[in-house]
Formats: sequence, C-alpha cells, structure tokens
Amino acid sequence: MRIYPPTVDDIGFLLSLAVFFIGLNIFLFTLFSSTYITKPLLILILVASSLTAYFMDTYHVVIDTSMIRNTLQTNLSESSDLLSVKLIGYLLLLGILPSYLVYRSKVTYPGFKQALIEKVLMLLLSVGLMAGSMYLFSKHYTSFIREHKPLRYHANPSYWIYSIVKYVNKTYFDGPVILQPVGRDAMIDRNQSKKLVIMVVGEAARADHFSLNGYSKLTNPELGKLDIINYPQFYSCGTSTAASVPCMFSKFGRENYSYKKGIGHENVIDILKHTGKVSLLWRDNNSDSKGVALRIPYQDYKTSKNNTICSADGSECRDSGMLVGLDRYIAEQNSSSILIVLHQMGNHGPAYYKRYPEAFAHFKPVCQTNQLEQCSREEIGNAYDNALRYSDAFLAKSISLLQRYDGEYQTALIYMSDHGESLGEKGVYLHGMPYFMAPDAQKHIGTFLWLGKSMQQHYALAKLKKDAARQHTHDALFHTLLGLFGVQTKVYNPQLDLLHVAR
Ligand SMILES: [Zn+2]
Repeated sequence: MRIYPPTVDDIGFLLSLAVFFIGLNIFLFTLFSSTYITKPLLILILVASSLTAYFMDTYHVVIDTSMIRNTLQTNLSESSDLLSVKLIGYLLLLGILPSYLVYRSKVTYPGFKQALIEKVLMLLLSVGLMAGSMYLFSKHYTSFIREHKPLRYHANPSYWIYSIVKYVNKTYFDGPVILQPVGRDAMIDRNQSKKLVIMVVGEAARADHFSLNGYSKLTNPELGKLDIINYPQFYSCGTSTAASVPCMFSKFGRENYSYKKGIGHENVIDILKHTGKVSLLWRDNNSDSKGVALRIPYQDYKTSKNNTICSADGSECRDSGMLVGLDRYIAEQNSSSILIVLHQMGNHGPAYYKRYPEAFAHFKPVCQTNQLEQCSREEIGNAYDNALRYSDAFLAKSISLLQRYDGEYQTALIYMSDHGESLGEKGVYLHGMPYFMAPDAQKHIGTFLWLGKSMQQHYALAKLKKDAARQHTHDALFHTLLGLFGVQTKVYNPQLDLLHVAR
C-alpha cells in the first residue's frame, strides 16, 4: 500500500496482480498434482503458508533461502520463544481448517487420457490469466519487476516454495562438500610471546543502541568505564546468524562469500590450528557454531549440563555461565597461546525480556511477550536495552578475567555482534532481511576491542582509536585474528587487519 497508494489505475493493477498470482498458483498446482498427491500437497502447502503468513504479518520478515537455513538451524528452545496464541490462530484458521475441507472434499479422478486433456486445458487457462493481466497493465508490471523487486518476496505461497526449491538445490544437489585447505603455510614465529584472546560473537546487538555510540540510554555502563577501542561504524556480513557467523570467520568477505564456499573452505580458526601453537576452544550459548568450530573443541552451554548459571526450569542459560571454569582450562594449556570463542545468546529476539536476570530490568516498563506488535515501541526498546545491559556486564566480566592474566600472557578481547535487529521501525521486527533491502538497524552492529597492558605496548593506541572511527566490516575479523597471533601466511591481508595501522 505504501508503494501502490490506491488510485483507480493502481487498484486495477493490484486486482490484476491478484489474478496473476491466482494464475501462477493454478499453474503450479496443476503441473504437480496427480491422483495420489493432490490432497497431501495442498494440505502441506496450506499449513506451511499459514505459518509463513503469520511470520510475515507479525514480524514483517521475508521467507527466503537464508531465512529457511536459519530456521532449520534453530533449536527447539529458540523456536518455543515464537509460540503464541496468534500463531495458533493463524495455523487453525488458515492452515488446519482449509486443510480439513480439502481432506473431506470428494475428488473424482478421470481416466488418464481425460486427465491429460483437462490438465493441458487448465495449464493454458492459467497461462492465459497471467499473460492477460500482464498485457493489460504492462507498464505497471515493468516497474513492478524492475523497481519494486523486494515486493515479490511477499508473495505467499509462491515465494517460499521458490525459496525451498532453491535451498534444497543449493544444499543437497550441488555435489558433496569437499573441504578446501586454506592457509596451510601458516606459522607463528618462535619468539612470539604467549597470547590469550577471547573473541565474543554477540547476538543481534545493533550499534545505535550502544551508549558507547551515543545512545541516550545508558546501555554500556561497565564498558564505558574501561579503556576500550570502540568501532561506531561497523557493518555485518549478513543479517542472520547462519549467514554472518560463518562469513565473518571466512577468508571471503561479504562480497565473495556464499554458504557453499563458507562450509567448503577452512576458516581462520582452522588456520590458527595449523600453526600448532594456539589452543582453541568454542563455547556456545546461542545455537551452534554454524560450521565454524567443527574441527576444534566445542562445548554446548545452552543447557545446565555444562552451564552452571541457568533458570530453575533450565530453559534459559546465561552467557556468564560460559566464563565458569575458564581458569582451569587456561591453566591446562601450559605451553601455548589461547583463543576462546564465546558465542552469546545476547539479544536474541523476540523474547528480549527473557535474556537477562531480574537485576538487569533497569529500563521500565518492559514488553513481556513475544507478540511484539502488542507492545509499545518504548516497551520493546526497554526489554531490548536491558538485554544489552546484561551483555555489557558479561563483557566487562570477560575483560576482568583477562586482566588477571595480563603479564603472563598478552591479552585481548574482540567483541562483534553477528548482525543487528529491527525493533518495529516501519513495522519491521527481528532480522534476516535480504541484505540489499535490509534496514541499517539489521547491519550496523556493536563492535569493540580491548587490549591488556602488555598487549597495548605493541600498538600506537591513538592511531588505533583514530582509525576505529571510520567504517569497517566483518571482513576484518579473519585478518585481525591472524595479525593478533602473529601468524605468517599468504592469505593474511594487513589492509584488513584492524590493528595493522597501529603496529
Ligand atoms: Zn544472530
């Protein structure tokens, strides 16, 4: 409606668009239906479309291949965050009820020859409908296709069916994945002193809600007191966990990255392993490492099995739990440098109010439901900002852990969120929009570095802070980690190493 205000001409076009999509759906269903599969096919599509409609209407998200990958990689406790009465309403009214009618309806199947004739006629009729509506409003269709490309993402069910076909094709029919080696020449000079680095992969933390970046609410009270190098203009590789996390650890950078390339190549964690001089550990309180930590020690911190800081019913485990026991781990790695990656639950939506203990409910009133549209923008913002404050405390705690090792090790902490989050601007919530049409809120992310005293001595801090003010992207992480550990390899590009300017 925003793009096509209802003038008489446009109403005609909108009607023709409806006819076009009816034609398209008839075409597809006719093509793929036959005696035994018609009913199951229709029921499957009705149920899936009712769920799609719910998520599109409620959060204004788009169901494309990367959203499907994200959904399939989501665990059950995250999905239960999304359950609601409205969701069940959509499912019953738009999914189950019509499915029941389809199930009960009597279909008479004609003989093969008759069926073939009917099918061909039906296909011709549907093509006629599509062609007719396009012919009548050809000018509108040209602009629709050229200038309003994003609108097609909202076609239900055609777009999600298209996306699933594309997803299955890309994921399962592209031949087996053979892991390509990267940076096998990597080595660390013997004279390098031992490093202890914590890399925190944040979750859905948008830059403009960080008080470090000038946000009016104090969301970084602890970090604000520390001597950190803040990156106010930092942009993510993708708009979802499944896209950003493997991309930021890969050598490709946003322009060249694809899911297939990501899982098909070794990443920077693997390269550090090749040196034989860095102990590696990945702790995860999010979903999983998205394939990044497949070849190094990985510990699941989503349940009370490993995580000692969980809610009474065990449904929510805190990021701080990932710090428990790290002293012992560090003590056990006697000879080498250490990289510990902590993958946060952070600001995972829509149930932001679940993401922090009561003591962090600083901003009030708070949105206490996953039905974001039932809350005011202020209530949503408060819940989201409280979760940021909890992350602030977690990050400060991680830094104080590192401070205890300063001297024995050269210490550093890198924090980068995986992507941002929409909080209802223009009716858009959550994240995962196709990159080119995603609002800044989903791409502009919180990022900072912290260097321990003995690490600082090797860098010109004033230069580093000055460079931090310009725009950077996730492309930097791969090279910054290599630079930080002093790794020599052909794949290292100093231009993309955040610390190189200050060396
Ligand atoms: Zn994420």
